[in-house]
Amino acid sequence: MSTELNIFAPVKDKLQACIHCGLCLDFCPTYRVTSEEMSSPRGRIYLMKAVADGELAIDDPLVIKHELSCLVCRACETACPSGVEFSLLMEHTREAILNNGSRGFIHQFIYTKVIGSKTITKAAQILLALLSKTRFPILFKKTFPIKSGLFSSIAILPEEIPFPTTRPDVYRTSKIVRRGTVGLLVGCIGDVFTKPINDATITVLNALGYDVLTLPEIQCCGSLAAHAGYLDQTRSLATKLLETIERNTIDAFITNIAGCGAMMKDYSSLLHDNLHSEAINKIKDISEFLLGHIEEIKQLGLRFNKHTRISYQAPCHLYHGQKNIDTPAQLLSLIGNANVSLLEENDICCGSAGTYNLEYPELSATLLRRKMELIAGNGSEIVATANSGCLMQLKSGLDGRQNNQQIYHFIEVIASIIY
Ligand code: SF4
Ligand code: SF4
Repeated sequence: MSTELNIFAPVKDKLQACIHCGLCLDFCPTYRVTSEEMSSPRGRIYLMKAVADGELAIDDPLVIKHELSCLVCRACETACPSGVEFSLLMEHTREAILNNGSRGFIHQFIYTKVIGSKTITKAAQILLALLSKTRFPILFKKTFPIKSGLFSSIAILPEEIPFPTTRPDVYRTSKIVRRGTVGLLVGCIGDVFTKPINDATITVLNALGYDVLTLPEIQCCGSLAAHAGYLDQTRSLATKLLETIERNTIDAFITNIAGCGAMMKDYSSLLHDNLHSEAINKIKDISEFLLGHIEEIKQLGLRFNKHTRISYQAPCHLYHGQKNIDTPAQLLSLIGNANVSLLEENDICCGSAGTYNLEYPELSATLLRRKMELIAGNGSEIVATANSGCLMQLKSGLDGRQNNQQIYHFIEVIASIIY
């Protein structure tokens, strides 16, 4: 059996679940942009089957083009009446493409050596912090309001990148009523690009009476690597992360990044075992964890000084990946003087999708443009989301526009009014 057929063997039955009904097509962002059947979930599954049946080679240009241009947003899973596990199928497809050598050396180096390496991340952060001091990213964004082509990676950079610092191992609550201890996934690049989100998460958890462990031995959850098909790399990161959870006495392991949460909750299928089910059950998105603390949040007396309209854009990996449709919006509704609504088409991807905005800048920019039209027309003062990648993507769309809208992770909004 050829390598690609071997790789599809564990999921070949799952490919049969697709009944070709086409109900997923209108929900697929790449199909909406291209109108090409092969860029739809159904078309991609056809191609996977053709490879699994030996009718097409894994390095056929059609396969490479359409399987790699998928956002893995999982909107097709929500729409599918037949329960097709699309993201699992896509991970195997990408692993087969990878094993065939169709990805270059630089791609492999980035995903296996750079992502998850604290030393390389620190060195890159110093360089980026220096770059941000030159004000070049600000000038660049003013010139190219919505990112395009080659320069997309500069366009999504935050204007301020801090120099690396070492977080304490534990942030203790100052509340008299101590409710417990939780771990936080700081993230492999979370403190580089979106440190305020981690700070805000700690502020809210401390305010609710939780000590927060930062667990520095955790490198990365592996979601970016899995997205690109590096499943062995992901398995090794996953095992390390789960063993760290098991070694520590914590009530929950919290993430504020929807893509990481979706990946970690799926570790059992990735590892093909149930050995770590207790640790996996502790993994919670911050919104999911806070939903169990509604009364305590009400006691914080959160309130805006003036009437504030907020619209919520759901990250795909929270909405479709974790089936957590609107919990962040529910939590924001607890704030006095807040008027919260869901952004129109909030279940459609903003084009961020891990590193998609770097690899497919044109498609990503088209999706972002649509999102920015909806945001501009909606008139909210604040747009809230629940994932750092979406936050950076949406902010890059807002840069250079003359309006007063602000984009935040929802936990930053809550933390900003805790006194
Ligand atoms: S994961 Fe998203 S982009 Fe990929 S096929 Fe499904 S709906 Fe389309
Ligand atoms: S993936 Fe699901 S919704 Fe899409 S064509 Fe197949 S069965 Fe129908």
